[in-house]
Amino acid sequence: MNLRKDIRNIAIIAHVDHGKTTLVDQLLKQSGIFRANEHVADRAMDSNDIERERGITILSKNTAIDYEGVRINILDTPGHADFGGEVERILKMVDGVILVVDAFEGTMPQTRFVLKKALEVGLKPLVVVNKIDKPQARPTEVIDEVLELFIELDADDDQLEFPVVYASAMNGTASLDPETQDENMKCLYDTIIEHVPAPMDNSDEPLQFQISLLDYNDYVGRIGIGRIFRGQLHVGEQVSLIKLDGSVKNFRISKMFGYFGLERHEIESAKSGDIIALSGLEDINVGETVTPPNAQEAMEAPLIDEPTLQMTFSVN
Ligand code: GDP
Repeated sequence: MNLRKDIRNIAIIAHVDHGKTTLVDQLLKQSGIFRANEHVADRAMDSNDIERERGITILSKNTAIDYEGVRINILDTPGHADFGGEVERILKMVDGVILVVDAFEGTMPQTRFVLKKALEVGLKPLVVVNKIDKPQARPTEVIDEVLELFIELDADDDQLEFPVVYASAMNGTASLDPETQDENMKCLYDTIIEHVPAPMDNSDEPLQFQISLLDYNDYVGRIGIGRIFRGQLHVGEQVSLIKLDGSVKNFRISKMFGYFGLERHEIESAKSGDIIALSGLEDINVGETVTPPNAQEAMEAPLIDEPTLQMTFSVN
């Protein structure tokens, strides 16, 4: 079995305010990306103005970090139950998940909601107990709460053996030990590389690229984002799009984008394991699949579920 050892694809999940944004900012910063792109704003994943200006997806974002020769793609997830369909689609693009829990507040309703989804998708979480710098932090109790939640949510034996990193995203410190902190986040990067499985390298198989998220940009129009599960993609290549109704549309790849830090850059080729964005097809939809020309048989793996519109009613 060949693996893309140069890549890790993970999602980050948490209850609101437990520190996802600060943590990803810190990981970016310590990987040197803020130094290279000083115009990047203070808060990497949370600035709506910047998102609008650049056309980065509003609800979920991909941040790519290079660490010791490994590209770590971190996909942000919305914590709110209204975005359940989107959370699921993001979780299906990754091989691991970071669950961030506040060292004082402990597990909260959205912790349960997002963890349940991750466990259902079969991911093995890595737990970050964040805000360890808080004077009232109670990391040992919080880990007991997290374990209790895993058990309530029917985690399997493998999932129950989650690694734990104690961190202060605010101070940029981390450690495997709740009592002491290292002066950087190296142990978190290392835990990600060690515990999140590298994607399979299926690049010799027929192309299968599923659209999991949509984005829009004034210059290139509608953008389909997803993970290449099999095969390779090259700019200029002729491919087919299998539409949701089963019909097939042939087109040529005109523009393709990869990620670096928070930015999207044009790329010429990509292969299985990569998370990329495609433009040039105005009516592209979530759940559709790009295959070799007229090769529906390439779609051996099950399709990602169609997004469902969720509604909430309150009855008083
Ligand atoms: P998100 O909603 O999960 O993205 O949370 P944010 O990253 O926006 O953080 C929420 C709040 O917690 C902000 O005020 C942060 O400054 C604060 N915060 C984040 N990480 C830490 C930490 O390690 N220690 C402390 N004391 N505060 C933190």
